[in-house]
Amino acid sequence: MNSLQGVSDRENYFVSLNRAEAIDPRRILRTLAYDHPLFDLAALRAQPHLPRLNALAADTTRTFFAGSYFRYGFHEDALLSAVQLSTQLLGCDPWAQFAVAEPEAAAAPLVAVA
Ligand SMILES: Cc1cc2nc3c(=O)[nH]c(=O)nc-3n(C[C@H](O)[C@H](O)[C@H](O)COP(=O)(O)OP(=O)(O)OC[C@H]3O[C@@H](n4cnc5c(N)ncnc54)[C@H](O)[C@@H]3O)c2cc1C
Repeated sequence: MNSLQGVSDRENYFVSLNRAEAIDPRRILRTLAYDHPLFDLAALRAQPHLPRLNALAADTTRTFFAGSYFRYGFHEDALLSAVQLSTQLLGCDPWAQFAVAEPEAAAAPLVAVA
């Protein structure tokens, strides 16, 4: 947590998901219970319609839907939904302004094998 969150430069803090029994209980600051989200059938059936909700609402609101629930529930799904929404709102690829020209390919060395 020190390098990820910058919590302290004097003492090391860790988050552990496994082998809690291997940790001295006196050193545990907090125990949290998390569940991975699970999609039921209704949620899976609704997913293909989510982008249309944003499209239909575009002229009537400045509040839109984005999140990992647009796909499988992981970080990249949340990001992808935001990129897709940005594309819809901006009318163009939001990454386009950051695109850098590909460097010219270096001439391949000539290799002769006899
Ligand atoms: C235990 C656990 C482990 C995970 N491990 C991984 C992993 O290893 N890799 C991975 O890719 N993904 C993992 N995930 C999934 C990952 O956390 C999610 O994909 C990601 O956080 C989803 O981002 P999001 O922006 O869609 O939603 P969230 O990160 O849930 O953000 C939604 C935000 O909206 C806020 N909010 C909710 N309702 C309101 C409201 N009415 N008004 C204002 N704000 C509101 C919430 O407080 C929250 O901050 C894990 C999830 C859990 C629970």
